[in-house]
Amino acid sequence: MPDKSTSSEVATSPAPASIDASAAVASRKIYPIVKYGDPILEKPTVAVKKFDADFQQLTEDMFASMYAAQGVGLAAPQIGLNLRVAVVDVTVGKNPEAKIVLANPEIIHAEGEVREEEGCLSIPGFRGYVMRPQFVTVRAHNAKGEPFEIRAENLMARAFCHEIDHLNGILFLQHLSMLKRDLIKRKIKKLKKQGEW
Ligand code: ZN
Repeated sequence: MPDKSTSSEVATSPAPASIDASAAVASRKIYPIVKYGDPILEKPTVAVKKFDADFQQLTEDMFASMYAAQGVGLAAPQIGLNLRVAVVDVTVGKNPEAKIVLANPEIIHAEGEVREEEGCLSIPGFRGYVMRPQFVTVRAHNAKGEPFEIRAENLMARAFCHEIDHLNGILFLQHLSMLKRDLIKRKIKKLKKQGEW
């Protein structure tokens, strides 16, 4: 008897080669990104306790969702999940070794200051200058639950701080001057009214 499950896989394979090549990506769930205004973005998250296959799948889906949105970092609240995990890849998918899962991360050391413009996938179209440490050391767990420490500088340090802020319910808007923050909030309110947010 032919194995039904394997034969059905073969039956669906006469697809063009170009689709075959992206099969691994196609099997990933692309989550819509939650936008500013949703209360989940301003709530602290709950620690990851189970580092099982479902969790590993979730982190891979988070990378896929982040790449689809052209981001360098994505935190679970941004896909509507109240969970203390974020993914970062400052190469935006160009280097598979640059993929970093930060589960239950904590900044254990910070040094220096850099003021740079940053944005957020949950606040599209708006950017602002934010002071961040130049160097940070983060302690976290990877997707398998193994503890590690990582030292980062400049853009990666900024990404780590931005994502860990997300996990604490903090958005980059909170680091801006009140004037700039209110201006952005007013513009978003207007976009909401026009149904464009
Ligand atoms: Zn963000």
